[in-house]
Amino acid sequence: MMAHRASWVIHFGAIPDGMCVCHHCDNPECANPTHLFIGTHQDNMRDRNQKGRAARLGGERNGCALLKEADVRVIRSLWPLKSQSELARIYGVHLSTVHLIVHRRHWKDVV
Ligand SMILES: [Zn+2]
Repeated sequence: MMAHRASWVIHFGAIPDGMCVCHHCDNPECANPTHLFIGTHQDNMRDRNQKGRAARLGGERNGCALLKEADVRVIRSLWPLKSQSELARIYGVHLSTVHLIVHRRHWKDVV
């Protein structure tokens, strides 16, 4: 098992079937749990392809796009007013990402 996958399991629990542990920091060696997030393999590939382009495209968001701390705060303040799937659509992130954020299993440092 790769270090970052092991790190995810230790800190956040099982990785859903077929899902990837992606890096916010784009360093495949990194196992810092605060840099990791769950995405599909597709998300991961798309993320890799689009990360370089995102800035040019005006920060277009995709499945594994980086959320800013401010976004995390807004997501938490909107839920459960807005459903998790609605928030995922608004922010263009995976539903599991929203789930981890609102349950504070991700972005724990953001108050
Ligand atoms: Zn990292």
